[in-house]
Amino acid sequence: MSFSAPIGTVEERESGKIWPGRWEDVTGYDKLYSLGYHTGADLNLNFPHWDANAHSDVFAIGDGTVTFADLFSTQEWGKLVVIDHGTVDGRPLFSRYGHVENITVSPSQPVGRGEPIASVGNGEGLFPYHLHFDISLTDILRSKPGHWPGHSRTLVHAHYVNPQEWLQVHVTDGVTNLNIFIAQAYYVIATLGLRVRQNHSTSALQVGVLPFGSKVTIDDTATVEQDSFKWGRVSGGAFNGDWLAMGKADQSETYLSRFPPG
Ligand SMILES: [Zn+2]
Repeated sequence: MSFSAPIGTVEERESGKIWPGRWEDVTGYDKLYSLGYHTGADLNLNFPHWDANAHSDVFAIGDGTVTFADLFSTQEWGKLVVIDHGTVDGRPLFSRYGHVENITVSPSQPVGRGEPIASVGNGEGLFPYHLHFDISLTDILRSKPGHWPGHSRTLVHAHYVNPQEWLQVHVTDGVTNLNIFIAQAYYVIATLGLRVRQNHSTSALQVGVLPFGSKVTIDDTATVEQDSFKWGRVSGGAFNGDWLAMGKADQSETYLSRFPPG
C-alpha cells in the first residue's frame, strides 16, 4: 500500500518529502508539553503568511475506512477523523486527524489515499490553527478515537509511532529503503552553479555542473567534511553517487538550500 502526507499541495505530497513543502511540525512526537507526551505531529504552515494552513485541505494518508468522523469534545479535541488502514507490515494501522473542521466523510465510508476528508481547524477555538496528526499501530483508536495517554510515556510508545519517520519510510509503496528515508531535496543557491565531482574532494574529477536553481537530491546520512567543505552525495538522476560541496565546513558559506531561490 502507498502513503502520502496528510497536508500540502498535490505536488508537495507526491514529492515524498515529509513534511511536505514548508509545513512544519511545531510539537513533535514524544515531546513533553503541558498536555503530556505528544502522540504525533502538530502540522503548521505559516508561509507565505501567518496561519496559511487555516481551512486548507486535510487528506487521507492511505486507502482505508473511516471509523470516526465527528465532534469528539469541545473541551479536548474539537472534531476528529480516524481512518482504519487495515493491516500494514503485519500490524493494525490507524491514522488520526485532530482539531479539523468541515468534515466531508462519515463512519464506514471507504477513502482513498490523497482524498480530502476535512480541513485544518482550531479545535472549536481551543487551539491555534493546526492539524494534530498521529499514527497508531494498535487498534486503540477504533474504540477510543479520542485516546490520549497524557503523561504516560509508556502508553504513547505502546500505541503511537513517530509519524514523520513512519511516513517517510512508507511514502513509496512500503519500500523501507534507507536511501529513501534520508534523501532530501535541495536547490543550488550558488550563483555560479555547483561543480559535480566523482568524489568528495576539490581535486576529484569534475563530472558536470548544476546551474543556479537546480533541484538535486542529497543523501543526508552520507555527508563528509574534506578540503574545508561539507560534501553531499547525490541520490538519483544523472549524477547519482557523485558529490557536491554543500557549503564551507565552517558554515560560513552555503551552496545548497532546502528551498528554491527567490
Ligand atoms: Zn497535537
